[in-house]
Amino acid sequence: MSAILIINIATLVGTHSTNTLLKGKALANLPAIENAFLLIEDGIIAEFGAMYELEIKVPQLPKHIIDAQDKTILPCWCDSHTHIVFAKSREDEFVDKINGMSYAEIAAKGGGILNSANKLSEASEDELFNAAWQRITDVSKLGTGAIEIKSGYGLSVNAELKMLRVIKKLKQKSNLNIKATFLGAHTYPLAYKENHQGYIDLIVNEMLPVIGNEKLADYIDVFCETGFFSPQEMEIICNAGKQYGLKPKLHINQLNSIGGIESAIKLNAVSVDHLETMTSQDVCCFKFI
Ligand SMILES: [Zn+2]
Repeated sequence: MSAILIINIATLVGTHSTNTLLKGKALANLPAIENAFLLIEDGIIAEFGAMYELEIKVPQLPKHIIDAQDKTILPCWCDSHTHIVFAKSREDEFVDKINGMSYAEIAAKGGGILNSANKLSEASEDELFNAAWQRITDVSKLGTGAIEIKSGYGLSVNAELKMLRVIKKLKQKSNLNIKATFLGAHTYPLAYKENHQGYIDLIVNEMLPVIGNEKLADYIDVFCETGFFSPQEMEIICNAGKQYGLKPKLHINQLNSIGGIESAIKLNAVSVDHLETMTSQDVCCFKFI
């Protein structure tokens, strides 16, 4: 067993006495201990308390002791939704947005996800990796300890796999806890605009088997909105992903309410993200969870 003891911590933050899921107002409660210690065994918090309790709580000191020298220790951020692997930013689209253009209008004139996909198709795996490495280094300095990263700017077999292989490399090289999400169903590429079934077939028959085989993803995501993927299409794609052990983690109700939440519940989704457009019926759905 490997054990690390950290002593002389000025403030140890997030010291909940029971290991329970925090919800609602409980999230505002952030207990802390002044002049504290923290014992970690095999990567798991085994004990903590005030320094005066150390002798009683840890009768046998481990060999590896770190003196925090009056610094503070607090929990890391867990970033559950990112698109941190991308080729180039799309700040010029902000001008369109400020001028009153909607997300759907920007997408219709070739902006949005399709614009990112165009830029990504020209970037090499190394270029994508190096840029993403810099970004995850930056976010880790801001306190992120765990991060989910999505594909979805590829929209072709090669480019989606390229993105997921970059995420796999990040997982292997980084100290952060990284999870990968396959978002091939981010939008329909132009070539499949009138042939939705053709693109779904590509996801199910060409992308998912390789992703399963190379263990390139933990989750599967679909952008379920009018003009993008319908709830029925999302169910087909997620059920195919489940065969490779991918759990659904979905983009729902960002722009429209089209029944995505009901489908997500049916699919036993791990999360439904966005929810910026909610009807009272959507809210009722959640009451049954
Ligand atoms: Zn997103």
